[in-house]
Amino acid sequence: MRKIGALEAGGTKMVLAVYQENGTELERITLSTEAPEITVPSMVEFFRRHQVDALGVGSFGPLDLNPSSPAYGSITSTPKLKWRDYPLLQKLLDGRDIPALIDTDVNAAALAEVELGAARGCRNAVYVTVGTGIGGGVYADGKLLHGLIHPELGHMLLRPHTDDPNPHGVCPYHDGCLEGLAAGPAIGARVQGDARELPDDHPTFAIEAHYLAQMCVNLILTLSPEKIILGGGVLGRECLLPMVRQETLRLLGGYVQSPAITEHVDSYIVAPQLFPVSGLVGSFLLGKQALEQAR
Ligand code: ZN
Repeated sequence: MRKIGALEAGGTKMVLAVYQENGTELERITLSTEAPEITVPSMVEFFRRHQVDALGVGSFGPLDLNPSSPAYGSITSTPKLKWRDYPLLQKLLDGRDIPALIDTDVNAAALAEVELGAARGCRNAVYVTVGTGIGGGVYADGKLLHGLIHPELGHMLLRPHTDDPNPHGVCPYHDGCLEGLAAGPAIGARVQGDARELPDDHPTFAIEAHYLAQMCVNLILTLSPEKIILGGGVLGRECLLPMVRQETLRLLGGYVQSPAITEHVDSYIVAPQLFPVSGLVGSFLLGKQALEQAR
């Protein structure tokens, strides 16, 4: 039985696992994300010890995912300075010539939800995680979407809510982008404290739902997904998902006439099924794809 290595590379932790080709997990470890020269040798050693036959990586980005680029598999313009322009995939392979694929952590998670989770059977789906940042993976017409670079839907620009005391948001790059208005730090800045201590009917959650609904509307109108999967720590507030669904319907204004949305919004905008391992399972699936492509 061939062995597949999987890495979900995050800004705070690295989750590594080894699977058999049939999906049986053999070992999983978690390392904290330090500078590359500290963290990467341990990761190389883990995959080497297991003698993996293929490798799949879902990583924070932005990434160079152009297979014809000399920098394929590198982390590019990240604000984490020690990882900027770092050739992650090349370093992980450490000279070994095995099949490997890398994608964004959110594209990996989208793949996992499509193959094994909340969007099973869909040929078009979007996975969005709302936590300390906002990222989204797009599965379009049966494959992960990359386009020119890869989607960065966390930074789409939104209209400010009229009651938002902080309508410019907190993104250092953009005035009024989704991440700057709706990620965890934006909520904290809006309420000037810990939003987890607030009741469900606090106005900040209506504002949050409004922003996430604007995102859903933009995704529906541009990508026409069959399912929108909404996860991440912020969605741990259980009242939010129903609020986002109703606000999405309101903002669509009856324009999109698909019963999948108008009559079944509860099964259209949904929570992930594989949380918290969507990204890790997606990385395994990328490694499996790499192995199959090499055959
Ligand atoms: Zn932004």
